[in-house]
Amino acid sequence: MTTSRRSADRSGLVLDTHDLGRRAGSMREVVTTVEAPEGLGNDVIGVPPNSPIELDLRLEAVVEGVLVTGVARAQLTGECGRCLRPIEDDLEIDLQELFLYPDTELDDEEASRIVAEQLDLEPLVRDQVVLELPFMPLCRPDCAGLCPQCGADLNDDPEHSHGDPVDPRWGDLAALRTELEQRDN
Ligand SMILES: [Zn+2]
Ligand SMILES: [Zn+2]
Repeated sequence: MTTSRRSADRSGLVLDTHDLGRRAGSMREVVTTVEAPEGLGNDVIGVPPNSPIELDLRLEAVVEGVLVTGVARAQLTGECGRCLRPIEDDLEIDLQELFLYPDTELDDEEASRIVAEQLDLEPLVRDQVVLELPFMPLCRPDCAGLCPQCGADLNDDPEHSHGDPVDPRWGDLAALRTELEQRDN
């Protein structure tokens, strides 16, 4: 069995397939922790760059290429969409992808390919992470959010109110707004 040839300047999400030798049926387990690349997420929540991603994968040589199956686990950090408190969460994504050998003919430009005996998991991980991210991250499902008038955190102060009642003409709009916010979730 050959040793894995990973150099420091290469992402940990690039895996060497040399030892599989293109022998259909040969396989290898990959259990490792790598650093997250930049840009795994959006403006409100994501996987922090350089944070650990645990990979628990199986690489299996098949006739057309190398089949990768397994899971990746990462940490998420972000902020609550209602009260802006920091959120931390764990993310686990399933990975399953066939990386074709360079000479496998397939009429699909999107297909993942092995290049120089290496397969790059980064695009796959990126796509799966983005799919799994909550559209509206919340610190808890019933987060009360912020007071629309003064920005006070209503989780800390559920009885919070302002002296003057809301002008009744705005009441319907306020109700509509609440309804729209709830529908977003
Ligand atoms: Zn919140
Ligand atoms: Zn207030």
